[in-house]
Amino acid sequence: MYDNSMKIEFVSKSQNESFARVAVAAFVSQLDPTIEELTDVKTAVSEAVTNSIIHGYENKKGIVKIEAFIEDRELTLIIEDEGIGIENIELARQPLYTSRPDLERSGMGFTVMETFMDSLKVESKKNKGTRLIMKKVFNSLS
Ligand code: ATP
Ligand code: MG
Repeated sequence: MYDNSMKIEFVSKSQNESFARVAVAAFVSQLDPTIEELTDVKTAVSEAVTNSIIHGYENKKGIVKIEAFIEDRELTLIIEDEGIGIENIELARQPLYTSRPDLERSGMGFTVMETFMDSLKVESKKNKGTRLIMKKVFNSLS
């Protein structure tokens, strides 16, 4: 049993990307994060949710789910959709790989998530959906 947890679900509309970012930031604030830590988490949430909306659901309506868990000073974030899924996860995770150059995507979302979080696990099945599991340990309070 984790020290603390939360779960939110919302419709895959781009307006909800900022809602998701702020909701996770509010939950994480109990760890007294530095501005940098908070920005890192918000950026990772933003990238993950944007991917679910534009790639997973291809801008059609679906549900994006976020769960967050805190244990000691470690945050675990699970962000998932039931969209089209990813056929080749290894390829999708390569820096600069995008399946949508037509949308002027740069293919850096996964790289950004990996950079700003301590770990990123991607689980996905074609036509079933995608689940990201990210972890980050927050600096101990001085
Ligand atoms: P950027 O994030 O820089 O705007 P991008 O979204 O294409 O560009 P990534 O976020 O790294 O780049 O994702 C790489 C690729 O992985 C995407 O182009 C898409 O094909 C696939 N992908 C990522 N997330 C999902 C998802 N939730 N569902 C389906 N496909 C996804
Ligand atoms: Mg992306």
